[in-house]
Amino acid sequence: MSQRHDTAVVATIAGVAVDTRHWIGGRRVASPATFPDTSPIDGSPLTEVARGGAHEAAAAVTAAQAAFPSWSATSREERARILHAIADGVENRIEELAAVETADNGALLRSHRRGVMPRVAHNFRFFADWLLSLAHEDFETRGHTNRISWDPAGVCALITPWNAPLMLATWKVAPALAAGNTVVLKPAEWSPLTASLLADIAAEAGLPSGVLNVVQGYGEEVGSALVSDPRVARISFTGSVPTARHIAGAAAANLVPVSLELGGKSPLLVFADSDLDLAVELAVEQYDNAGQVCLAGTRLLVESSVAEEFTQRFIVKAAALQQGDPRDEATDIGPNIHPDHFARIDGFVQRALATGARAVIGGGPNTELGGLYYRPTLLTDVAPDTEIVTEEVFGPVLTLQTFDTDEEAVALANGTRFGLAATVVTGDSERARRITEQLVAGTVWVNCFFVRDLQAPFGGARQSGIGREGGTWSFDFYCDVKNTVTAPKGWQHHG
Ligand code: ADP
Repeated sequence: MSQRHDTAVVATIAGVAVDTRHWIGGRRVASPATFPDTSPIDGSPLTEVARGGAHEAAAAVTAAQAAFPSWSATSREERARILHAIADGVENRIEELAAVETADNGALLRSHRRGVMPRVAHNFRFFADWLLSLAHEDFETRGHTNRISWDPAGVCALITPWNAPLMLATWKVAPALAAGNTVVLKPAEWSPLTASLLADIAAEAGLPSGVLNVVQGYGEEVGSALVSDPRVARISFTGSVPTARHIAGAAAANLVPVSLELGGKSPLLVFADSDLDLAVELAVEQYDNAGQVCLAGTRLLVESSVAEEFTQRFIVKAAALQQGDPRDEATDIGPNIHPDHFARIDGFVQRALATGARAVIGGGPNTELGGLYYRPTLLTDVAPDTEIVTEEVFGPVLTLQTFDTDEEAVALANGTRFGLAATVVTGDSERARRITEQLVAGTVWVNCFFVRDLQAPFGGARQSGIGREGGTWSFDFYCDVKNTVTAPKGWQHHG
């Protein structure tokens, strides 16, 4: 996989210059080894990227540590100003960021342009503004004043996944920086490029050297070294459960607070009293990003009396989805990320089919398109408690199960080891209240999907994660929350 590659460091991706070295202490740093980055669109090689290890992780933490005293002492207003300048830089480069991200991870160009990259800028603006209004009312204890403050914690190690690379990276980077911390970001090796552009944008926006560092490479190498570094004060990770166990182990060894946002196997419940067109629309939306969305409601749980009608309407709607090159405006579903992942998705589907499941649509790779294009798939007749209904597939694969009573619906919905999200479609607000109260999930949507406000707590129950980020919850995590108790003037202390 690796090769000596000491020269080519700036690649041109979709017409955009991307430096593929690390960004440490305000300088580009090469590694003796590199790893290849290929495009999921057509499997073409994009570039070689610096392959960091323990040495680069340590250097980045050293740089972040050196930058911490000054950045943490920088006023809130100045930090907020710089974060807004980063947002400006993102907005100025939306087209470039969108083009590079699509080349790198294969998600739709139109989503990157219109939804994702504006949201990346918003991540910075939101946490900059939230910082300025962050406050807890003082309160008194026998005349003593309690004052709550959010103190910067130190160096944050941020490990991010490939399904929404810059979006998920900045959802951590922005609050960590706003809080007055310094950061080492390790993007996923299957989509490493936009993190490098972010480093350029942050530097141009005036973020001081060493406040944001980016190291590239494999999780088991540079990632593992980074999260094990005892100088790291916070670890925030979005990714898979097995990797989370390694990271939580490293955090435990150093007793470092860790935030884990993991996968899901979220239910989408359709009750007979629902607007079926809405239910179908929401269900088909679960194929977004070729199913590579942790929040996706991949288990359709439909009340028996409307299951046939729902399925027929679903088939019609899903058949209208265009699969193809994610750079085409008309495309709805692009490729999956990587051959290894593609094989994993197909493995789940073929094993389910072999044990009696029926593919109402899809059921295998899109052989016309070839490459990493997997046909949107809906599986019925799935055996309860088999892997297709309990494990996260992370591809365009949905299952459909039926229920007859509210109790059954809730039992099915809560019947996995995950608890990230749930969607409830019903025309009865009383039922919605009853059902949502019983669901185990970090986020529940009623008659909608993917409405995400940055001030809302975000995270998962059970094995979908530990902790919550968003709004004040992000500052609670990225800061040392302090209570300062001051005696009133003239107070006589009687021990
Ligand atoms: P997936 O299996 O879907 O690729 P992962 O959870 O393995 O997801 O990857 C998410 C992120 O975690 C990536 O940036 C990856 O490099 C990183 N990673 C993987 N293994 C480790 C590890 N042992 N320590 C730290 N980071 C890791």
